[in-house]
Amino acid sequence: SYYTKAKFLMSAPDIRHLKQDEGIEVAFAGRSNAGKSSALNTLTRQKNLARTSKTPGRTQLINIFELDENRRLVDLPGYGFAQVPLEMKKKWQASLGEYLQKRKSLRGLVVMMDIRHPFKDLDQDLIFWAVDAGLPVLALLTKADKLKSGKRKEALMFAKTAALAFNGDVTVQTFSSLNKIGVGEAEAVLNNWFDL
Ligand code: GDP
Repeated sequence: SYYTKAKFLMSAPDIRHLKQDEGIEVAFAGRSNAGKSSALNTLTRQKNLARTSKTPGRTQLINIFELDENRRLVDLPGYGFAQVPLEMKKKWQASLGEYLQKRKSLRGLVVMMDIRHPFKDLDQDLIFWAVDAGLPVLALLTKADKLKSGKRKEALMFAKTAALAFNGDVTVQTFSSLNKIGVGEAEAVLNNWFDL
């Protein structure tokens, strides 16, 4: 897979510190503990590209990984961590909104949600902003291995129906880093966004 080429490029404390708005980037977002780091490691077949942590909300930096000189993966800080002060949350939301609206190189947003608790308020806010900005969204229902096949299909159907409410280009898929469910399907969507 092309994503095995991913290499750490830089960390940024804020979206305003991101460098050149050129080429193509795809952003990854999700609530803390949704399985975002694991998913990035799975997609890139690298054990420690994105740090998985046992302390939710610990990674507050934006991490940029380079695929080649024109393509980047952008790992956004996890959200929804109760202990984060309201002021910080507001700042983060404002700059995230601005990023989704203004970043020309941004081709799509991957939103990671635990298959057992999809579309929480902040997930919905984020997806609405992305759709508003005309961006396609890939909603990955993570930790799909936690549900048996029947329940998993049910959860997928339910989430696909819920996604219609956004009235935008929102693709919903199941994903598991543990069982490698949905990896190829997620890559197919990314390939399309990255012009691969
Ligand atoms: P992040 O905070 O969104 O980056 O989430 P992490 O990738 O650090 O994962 C949070 C927790 O969920 C960790 O304990 C992981 O081991 C677990 N986890 C992540 N992906 C999966 C998965 O596909 N299946 C299962 N069962 N657990 C997972």
